[in-house]
Amino acid sequence: QWTHCHASLHLMNSLNHATPAPLFEGGVRAQNLTLTYASPRSTTYAVRDVSLEIGPQQFAGIVGPSGSGKSSMLYLMSGLRTATSGEVFFGDFHYSAATPSQKLDFRRREFGFIFQSPHLVPYLSVLENVLVPIENPKTDDKAFALELLERLGIAELAAKFPNECSGGERVRVSMARGLVHRPKWLWVDEPTASLDHVTGATVMNVLRTQTQHGALVVVTHDLEILDDADVVFKMRDGVLVGHDVAVRS
Ligand code: ADP
Ligand code: MG
Repeated sequence: QWTHCHASLHLMNSLNHATPAPLFEGGVRAQNLTLTYASPRSTTYAVRDVSLEIGPQQFAGIVGPSGSGKSSMLYLMSGLRTATSGEVFFGDFHYSAATPSQKLDFRRREFGFIFQSPHLVPYLSVLENVLVPIENPKTDDKAFALELLERLGIAELAAKFPNECSGGERVRVSMARGLVHRPKWLWVDEPTASLDHVTGATVMNVLRTQTQHGALVVVTHDLEILDDADVVFKMRDGVLVGHDVAVRS
């Protein structure tokens, strides 16, 4: 199913300092992203000169060992962290050059986030937590939120509060919250880390439906959940060391 595309990666790298024509219309384009952490004694490169592109309806994976810079890469592309150097574009929109309020606007409208720590609001019910990304939830929004909870296997928790849910249940609540406004870009960090195998497969199925209207970008060290990804980027020590593209017949 996989073909190795080192040749095209080399091409991408050799074009790094020019501005290559985008591979995808309306996709995300990361150009020479670098993130360093400076301490008095040394500088750590969390991400080092990484360039990649993801199409607007692709399922993309980012894999690599712990500490290889996967999460940092997700934060940089989604603008939650500012790069030490490098640029991010969404289609023609120069995201990394936008003002903080433009970025915030763009994120609210276009992005959904699912992180390892779910950060639920303790005094809101599960259903209310799921609806947080929507300013004035209508009946349709509530129905969709309940449908997501159902598909994630936690419909019976809708009226409960976060402190009445297990860790794995809270993660699934945060997944419904990430999906509820049908974002164009869904950024997901280690979705199956706190879930058993069967539940992991269920949530991947739900996340996968995202690509009917947007892109799904998943960071993981579990290659199995990327079986039907369109592209898998491999990181090591902050560097992009290769990528595999799925060939569909
Ligand atoms: P991954 O998600 O692949 O486990 P991360 O992106 O979290 O990797 O981290 C990449 C590197 O950056 C690691 O070496 C990590 O120790 C370092 N790092 C991450 N956050 C910080 C921080 N706040 N301060 C210093 N170093 C950090
Ligand atoms: Mg990580």
